Amino acid sequence: MKTVILKPSDENIALCAEAINGGKTVAFPTETVYGLGASAYDTKAISEIFRVKGRPNDNPLIVHVASADAINGLVREVTPLAEKLIARFMPGPVTLVLKKSKSVPDQVTAGLDTVGVRMPSHPVCVKFLRACNVPVAAPSANTSTRPSPTCAKHVLGDLAGRIPYILNGGHCEVGLESTIVDVSGAVPKLLRAGGISRDEIAEACGCEVEIAASGKVALCPGMKYKHYSPKAEVYFSAYYSGMAAGIAMQYDALTSAGKNPVILCTEKNAGYYGTRNVYDMGADYRDYAHNLFYMLRKADADNFDSVIAEGVPSDGIGAAIINRLVKSSGGKII
Ligand code: AMP
Ligand code: MG
Repeated sequence: MKTVILKPSDENIALCAEAINGGKTVAFPTETVYGLGASAYDTKAISEIFRVKGRPNDNPLIVHVASADAINGLVREVTPLAEKLIARFMPGPVTLVLKKSKSVPDQVTAGLDTVGVRMPSHPVCVKFLRACNVPVAAPSANTSTRPSPTCAKHVLGDLAGRIPYILNGGHCEVGLESTIVDVSGAVPKLLRAGGISRDEIAEACGCEVEIAASGKVALCPGMKYKHYSPKAEVYFSAYYSGMAAGIAMQYDALTSAGKNPVILCTEKNAGYYGTRNVYDMGADYRDYAHNLFYMLRKADADNFDSVIAEGVPSDGIGAAIINRLVKSSGGKII
């Protein structure tokens, strides 16, 4: 199968929607990362997503809709907490976990009694979802374990020959996956940090947000797997006042061992590293998040065998950056 990257014209959006309704999988842009979608009601097409990605089948998919009304048909109850978060953050980079209705196949939720629902804001995605006229179940459009794709070329790099179309919506604005909040009960639980912070969720809910404990029960099954890994070895620095000096030392130790590293750093620190290889991640932590997966893939393309990522403060979007880098480094914290 030849995989084509399509410009987001009305004709191409209609073509992609037709493919979805015809039982095919299609990659599409969102403001977080690119998704690999299929009709949420088509169990054969859903199995194809798992096959194409090499995704473990106990890892559920998020269901994407074009309007808040469409959520009603997917869940047993839109709880008061869900109503608050829908009003404040949808469309936007948040996924709500609610008790699922019978219409959602078990394949989508990997057998869970709950479903993750999301209403993206990316204008191409909104047009695509409207044209599909069915809820679209989608995980990120990477092969399992790889960094999530934030541009059409990255999807092609992972899935060429395995899907017919990639709808091109440019570079994803947020660059990290959605914040996932379980609002099926009386207390909101943060299952995955993302573009919207825990404080923002708490403020909108008017109460504290629990952080889901990673106990025996996989509350957010996807978070237990190896994730976000480029070919290069990733080292992640703690955030402290002497961080740049510590990173420079690690860099020099790697080069002495014959390695070819690159440092991911904020713009203000770039000068500190002298002639060492750096990727400038931008002026603030929103930029850092936006560039993170892109730069992890660029490191491979530029033949760096090691990446040292600067640490970030843990508030705001920092929590999501830390979560992804702890996973992509496999816990190699310096
Ligand atoms: P991805 O779209 O690749 O980021 O994967 C979807 C993420 O959403 C995975 O980490 C899943 O575990 C999580 N997810 C989807 N549905 C649910 C649900 N019903 N309960 C908890 N987590 C979910
Ligand atoms: Mg994913």
